[in-house]
Amino acid sequence: MKERVPLVAGNWKLHKRVSEAVALVRELRAELGDGFDGCEVAVAPVATALSAVAEALRGSSLRLAGQNVYHEPRGAFTGEVSSPLLADVGCQLCIVGHSERRQLFGETDAGVRLKVQALLAEGLVPIVCVGETLAQREAGETLEVVLGQVVLAFQGLTAAQMAPVVIAYEPVWAIGTGRTASPEDAEEAHAAIRGQIASTFGPGVANSLRILYGGSVKPENAAELLSQPDIDGALVGGASLETRTFVPIVRAAL
Ligand code: PEP
Repeated sequence: MKERVPLVAGNWKLHKRVSEAVALVRELRAELGDGFDGCEVAVAPVATALSAVAEALRGSSLRLAGQNVYHEPRGAFTGEVSSPLLADVGCQLCIVGHSERRQLFGETDAGVRLKVQALLAEGLVPIVCVGETLAQREAGETLEVVLGQVVLAFQGLTAAQMAPVVIAYEPVWAIGTGRTASPEDAEEAHAAIRGQIASTFGPGVANSLRILYGGSVKPENAAELLSQPDIDGALVGGASLETRTFVPIVRAAL
């Protein structure tokens, strides 16, 4: 078993009605059992299903995650959800800075930083997504882009504040495309991210930091990716929507 407990998180994106989300959780519980050692597993349903999924998860080791958050706790912010409200409904984690949010909704590094701070203030674990586009990779800018996103997301945090944070390295060109980074390319990015965190926050924080890989993770490629020394789990989109594909990925992390 790795020294860092792996985390496998399913990002359900804009999929599943409440009844479908609850049914999937029931199936996951039946397959995985209610207590499992050696891996943390989380699901991130659409906001309208959070409450029902929280109820369906009760008594299991599965964790509930939000897919996005607004940095202000309350106020005149129509359409937003805040970290106190995510905590209130039973979330323990929340994805921030997903490339779909950055590309489709104009989310910036500065915005990601505010969200990280808001989640930490509420005791929620941010899963902070970083990753390069295909053009950036082909221009040889991968590490510059990814490490730049890492630096800006956590600027101003202390080592103690940084301790619970999870990073997800998700090459944009690998998300939802069926293309996956090779284990070697993914490991190179993960090791560089850990090195950056070590130089900013010290080796203690870096060594316990979980860095997930995301981008077309499937049952067929999970074991090889997860066997890399700096890959501590997976953020899974498409393959998290069915027990048949999500459970083997969890088992590969155990
Ligand atoms: C994601 O949405 O974070 C993701 C990695 O999606 P997919 O697994 O479908 O590529």
